[in-house]
Amino acid sequence: ALPVLAVIGRPNVGKSTLVNRILGRREAVVQNIPGVTRDRVMHKAEWAGRDFQLVDTGGWEVDVAGLSKQVADQAEIAVDMADVVILVVDATVGATATDERVVELLRRKGKPVVIAANKVDSSKQEADSYSLWSLGLGEPFPISALHGRGTGDLLDAAVGQL
Ligand code: GDP
Ligand code: MG
Repeated sequence: ALPVLAVIGRPNVGKSTLVNRILGRREAVVQNIPGVTRDRVMHKAEWAGRDFQLVDTGGWEVDVAGLSKQVADQAEIAVDMADVVILVVDATVGATATDERVVELLRRKGKPVVIAANKVDSSKQEADSYSLWSLGLGEPFPISALHGRGTGDLLDAAVGQL
């Protein structure tokens, strides 16, 4: 079986955009509304000559009050399947309580994780990613899933641990 790379994170941080970037095609559904990705979607992917399964996560469409728990539940299922995890954080927002909760889960599971500080569309915004060192999971990779900025370095780091 192929190794599994899971992309997790809060709604609207750009997970599906990143998945499309990795796939080089528009397969994952991207929308401006949180929750458009169905529960877990698997795609066969390749990077630097390595084949793997890429898992896009989502599926949160209900009440805001239960959101944090649902994100965490979805994340747990994806993390259990994964060999390596990319945790996507919106660098323009910074780490939220939900992100902290997911980080706790990742620590407990002991899976290798790479932090993607997304929506860093220009070098001027790069400083936004520094605050994500506070998550305690190592170097945040500033990326723009939308424009492809920095995604190569992120993938090298993630796929290198598969
Ligand atoms: P998901 O819910 O985490 O899967 O997020 P999506 O991939 O559906 O993206 C949510 C919104 O963020 C969409 O409007 C995307 O176009 C936007 N977005 C995603 N990546 C970036 C990025 O790198 N920069 C900017 N400016 N917007 C982005
Ligand atoms: Mg999505």
